[in-house]
Amino acid sequence: MALFLYNTLSRKKELFQPLHKSHAGLYTCGPTVYHYAHIGNLRSYIFEDVLKRTLLFNKFKVKHVMNITDVGHLTSDADTGEDKMLRGARRENKTVWEIAKFYTDAFMQDIQKLNILPPDIVCNATEHISEQIALIQRLEKNGFTYNACGNVYFDTSKLDDYGKLARLDLGAQTQARVEKDSNKKNQHDFVLWFTKSKFQDQEMKWPSPWGLGYPGWHIECSAMSMRYLGEQFDIHCGGIDHIAVHHTNEIAQSEAATGKKPWVRYWLHGEFLVIQVVEKSSAERMAKSGENFITIRTLETQGYDALDYRYFCFSTHYRMPLMFSYEALEGAAVARKRLAEKVIELKENCKKDVKVHTERQEKYLLQFTEQINDDLNMPQALATMWGVLKTEELSAKDKYTLLLKFDKIWGFNLGLLQKEKVKIPNDVKKLAEERLRVREQKDWKKSDELRERIRKLGWIVGDTKEGYELKRGELLEK
Ligand code: AMP
Ligand code: ZN
Repeated sequence: MALFLYNTLSRKKELFQPLHKSHAGLYTCGPTVYHYAHIGNLRSYIFEDVLKRTLLFNKFKVKHVMNITDVGHLTSDADTGEDKMLRGARRENKTVWEIAKFYTDAFMQDIQKLNILPPDIVCNATEHISEQIALIQRLEKNGFTYNACGNVYFDTSKLDDYGKLARLDLGAQTQARVEKDSNKKNQHDFVLWFTKSKFQDQEMKWPSPWGLGYPGWHIECSAMSMRYLGEQFDIHCGGIDHIAVHHTNEIAQSEAATGKKPWVRYWLHGEFLVIQVVEKSSAERMAKSGENFITIRTLETQGYDALDYRYFCFSTHYRMPLMFSYEALEGAAVARKRLAEKVIELKENCKKDVKVHTERQEKYLLQFTEQINDDLNMPQALATMWGVLKTEELSAKDKYTLLLKFDKIWGFNLGLLQKEKVKIPNDVKKLAEERLRVREQKDWKKSDELRERIRKLGWIVGDTKEGYELKRGELLEK
């Protein structure tokens, strides 16, 4: 079935047609590892995971590459501000390398908890310095760079379609708010290589043709994606904040290096997770710089499972802002619990159930596939799932089979759910055995007495063909 994705480049939903039949090259901008990822960042990774799962659902072979930004970069997108890694190191009295390792591990744990499929290649910026230097040299050779005060800059005026992704108005002074860098020839120019750091104790430095220094932020994504996916590939993703600067500059560098070969075919961007700010009575993007952000660990300490947050994210389309609140998360947690109970019940029932309605199943599967293939419409797909649970035209077996198929996208681990095995205490078992014996002797009075004693111990005994069954009741006596 045809897959349609909204491409930021054309501002349209487009039919997905990869460069190489049935293969999809996917690059997702990874975390900057100077702090925990907040649940806003994780919303973006969940959206990207749904995209990847949808590609796999459509039988594409996916090669997924994600970078780890472990080189120190500036707190502002526009090459100004404070070095993020140094800020983390100072905060925690550690080296920048220790900070990078710690928060990379924490991020990997988060994505595992969220059941995000691991990328095929996870690449660290600090381990790909030579690729970044080689790319800057190509840009230098093609005449797109200039040196000023020890740093190498990309000259955006040399590229006639600079800013096409963000549809930038190059005449407007859009960066008026940020500190001006007097070395720049044009306001959108950006640093490819720093030798003159603004920070005295800059720890991460490497030798280069331009002197001891470190790369600018954007170059790592161009260099590493091209190394692992080739000079042209299918899909590149990130949050919407990356459109105007980071992705715009990635495109500029990559296409200027390869002689203007169109670099990426489909650009997908996820909207923000926002929170209500009471003092300002408005909603604001969750951001790391705020320091008052929520992490998966915060949610866990409030008694939630990471998968409750995953469910919550599916309630809103990825191109719409999502407002976080604990009430809304609670709603998602309750819904996920209900879903789990239903699935366990269906699993039990489908053991006895032999009826299968292939055609009816197909109808629902088609509906679900159309929805996810319509630019990942997860809210609608969720409605289809609840519709499956409700309908009377499907047997338990049909429903269970369908839900496991849907779960390839949901990632709720529905196939692993088990009826909780309850351990029946020995004294309860003994009473039930005794009751069975007295019933064989038709001593109904004694049988009722034993039932009552069992009930007081918190169990309900019932009669079956094989003998008896015990279910949990209310504990009345210790
Ligand atoms: P960073 O670690 O800051 O490089 O961000 C990692 C990813 O999270 C990027 O794709 C960002 O665009 C994305 N992101 C940052 N803030 C938010 C937010 N509030 N909601 C959703 N995504 C976000
Ligand atoms: Zn990137």
